[in-house]
Amino acid sequence: MTLQQLVDNAGPALADAQAVSSMLNIQSTRAAQRVLQLWRQRLSGKERSLLLDYSTGTVPDSKDPFPEVHISPLFGELEGRLLGDERQISLHTANKKILYKQYIKVINKKNLCNRAPTTWANRMTGNGPDPQWRLLYKPPLKKKTADLQWRILHGAVGSNAFISVFTAAVSSQCPFCPLRETVFHAFSECGRLAVLFTLLTNVFNLFSENFSIGKFIYGAGYNRSNQRKWQLLNFISGEAKLAIYVTRKRRIENNTVQEAATVFCCNIRCCLKLEFGFYKLTKDLNNFRNIWCYKNVLCTLVDDHLTFANFLL
Ligand SMILES: [Zn+2]
Repeated sequence: MTLQQLVDNAGPALADAQAVSSMLNIQSTRAAQRVLQLWRQRLSGKERSLLLDYSTGTVPDSKDPFPEVHISPLFGELEGRLLGDERQISLHTANKKILYKQYIKVINKKNLCNRAPTTWANRMTGNGPDPQWRLLYKPPLKKKTADLQWRILHGAVGSNAFISVFTAAVSSQCPFCPLRETVFHAFSECGRLAVLFTLLTNVFNLFSENFSIGKFIYGAGYNRSNQRKWQLLNFISGEAKLAIYVTRKRRIENNTVQEAATVFCCNIRCCLKLEFGFYKLTKDLNNFRNIWCYKNVLCTLVDDHLTFANFLL
């Protein structure tokens, strides 16, 4: 029921209890009378006269000042980074996205209170900025890769340490080494990742950037003025995580041992070939060059011929 519906049915004096009980589909006219009485008591004389004006068709002057209206999410004493510092929102400026976010925070406030933004927060202390959430899904990253990055940050990827809690037949040991396999071990600490991380260090250097586990897990970074470079660095980080995930899966399902760095290079070559084929077909190789050929780090395009960088071969 909106205020307008109420006024339309009850009349500007808020007196027609019969119409209101009919609108609300309730039997008791007395209950409707009580509701209207409460409404009348809450309105000031000025507000009641505004209602009367409204019913006689008076159009408000658009130049009339309107007070700033704020709403405050009811967090009480609860605090935490996920609840945010925004404790007062202007109804004038807040859009539906802001209001929806605050609504979700309020209904989940107890779970969000003092909770770290990611399961990696304690591991990454002093190791770079917060997670770059919006970078995780930036093209040319594919959604499948982006979802994996999001899941890793939330620890929502099956690791043996986690699965063994529910399945007695599964050991908590890493499929590649004798250590316990947590999500941190699987994506940043396992000795088998050394080759991949050395490769990533070299590739980041080719982009004049330093590689770190923080950048790898949280997102490489972004700078709008040099977006081609950062898009590729985020793409490379995403593909490296996918290679770790895929090689672990194959190891568990088929006992296949594959070097994550090899799968990483193979996947990038396949991706470049597919993209090259598409842009060649659509006669838009300039766009391919813009997206993929930054400083020829990944590939080179000469006379419409694609050549991969040496480290990919
Ligand atoms: Zn391991």
